[in-house]
Amino acid sequence: MKLSGKVAIITGGSRGIGKATASIFAKEGASVVITAKDNTRLQSAARELGVVGFAGDIRKNDDVENIVKRTLDRFGKIDILVNNAGMLPKVKPLHEIPEEEWNEVIDINLTGQFRFTKAVVPHMMKNGGCIINISSDAGLKSFENFEVDSYSATKAALIHLTKTWAIEYAKHKIRVNCICPGVIETDMTEPYLRTEADRAMMVAEHPIGRIGNPDDVAKAILYFASEDSSWITGAILPVDGGVTIK
Ligand code: NDP
Repeated sequence: MKLSGKVAIITGGSRGIGKATASIFAKEGASVVITAKDNTRLQSAARELGVVGFAGDIRKNDDVENIVKRTLDRFGKIDILVNNAGMLPKVKPLHEIPEEEWNEVIDINLTGQFRFTKAVVPHMMKNGGCIINISSDAGLKSFENFEVDSYSATKAALIHLTKTWAIEYAKHKIRVNCICPGVIETDMTEPYLRTEADRAMMVAEHPIGRIGNPDDVAKAILYFASEDSSWITGAILPVDGGVTIK
């Protein structure tokens, strides 16, 4: 097993990509903590996967610190952090974005990752560790008719922070890598995949000829979390059926 004896926190682990990652990590021998806001859905996912669920809002520093403390109380250490929690605002042009919405997206998708990383790093500095940031193709390039500027800004920032953190903490044996998914079938993308025409348009964006599923991303996250990638840090990996090479 690739993660035997490892302790992992996966933010936004109650559904979608985070839940698929928790499932694979648990099968690979890790002790897994998943986090989310909605505790009912979180506990149901935790029961289903045989992992631990600690609820909290990534916008609240106290909640983040509480999750990290409970993880340490329960497992004694943290080896892996998957910064996966995120939200996608409604598509609209820049001049129609209310400032409150802009700030909320930054708070969840960027400052939230800062909060978790800041809380976890001092503990990882003792034995080393792995941080995997979940960005997006939208952080790598602009897409026509996908006007989510605040989201794209947070995802681009996460790509750069991956390199910054990788340099900053390499001396403490903490590796930091980043995955940029294309369109993955989850609750987040469900509104854009409702009709056959929408789905066909999304499929056509991806040279491989299909949209992704959460396992496609979870397997790449496992790679960055395991010793298979022990000489890799600061890497940005598109997992996107070829979208970004177009
Ligand atoms: P989902 O919408 O399926 O799940 C989002 C997860 O994040 C849920 O567990 C949710 O739990 C949690 N979350 C959201 N807001 C908060 C908050 N304020 N505090 C704590 N937890 C929160 O998303 P996906 O699985 O689709 O996406 C996962 C990551 O992958 C995101 O960062 C997303 O941007 C990125 N991504 C997704 C793509 C896709 O096509 N699906 C493409 C590219 C990147 P709850 O609601 O209970 O709080």
